Amino acid sequence: MAPAEAHLCFECGLCCDGSLFADVMLQTAELESIEQQVGYEYRDGNPFLQQPCLAYRQGRCQVYENRPQGCRSYECQVLCDLKEGRIKRPEAGQQIHQLRAIIEIINRCLAILGETDLTLPLSHRIESAMGQAWDLNEPQEKQEAREELQQIVPEFESLAGERFRAVDIP
Ligand code: SF4
Ligand code: SF4
Repeated sequence: MAPAEAHLCFECGLCCDGSLFADVMLQTAELESIEQQVGYEYRDGNPFLQQPCLAYRQGRCQVYENRPQGCRSYECQVLCDLKEGRIKRPEAGQQIHQLRAIIEIINRCLAILGETDLTLPLSHRIESAMGQAWDLNEPQEKQEAREELQQIVPEFESLAGERFRAVDIP
């Protein structure tokens, strides 16, 4: 990876910290090494590395040389566009900044609504908050947080879906 592209991922980390994904599917051959380094869980008979990934610390993957194939092969659309010269480095950074700003608002709303377990992926915390029953007698702050969350989550899903979860189809 060229320096500008590598630096973009160092600045970002959204595909490791639970913001975009809840897990990474693992291959059987990877299990022993991942078990020693980070651990994994089974779901529906398949092994997954849970996110937020425990190997993501100080803004870096701490098992980079031995990261799973699912991580190794993943490149979001922003990174693909930068690599292919369709966007410049400042624009790529700006898109990360834009998504991060939205995530900050979501996290503020989630904190007010009591969804503070940061060991869970963002999608699980959003789902849990959205599933809470509306209570017209609850504090104004909570009602406003619910309304703001309802408005901002589609914005998050749109930007995340178009620029960060979507990848080039060869
Ligand atoms: S979301 Fe994209 S830019 Fe961010 S770390 Fe992952 S691949 Fe890199
Ligand atoms: S193993 Fe490394 S690259 Fe994969 S999700 Fe964890 S921190 Fe990210």
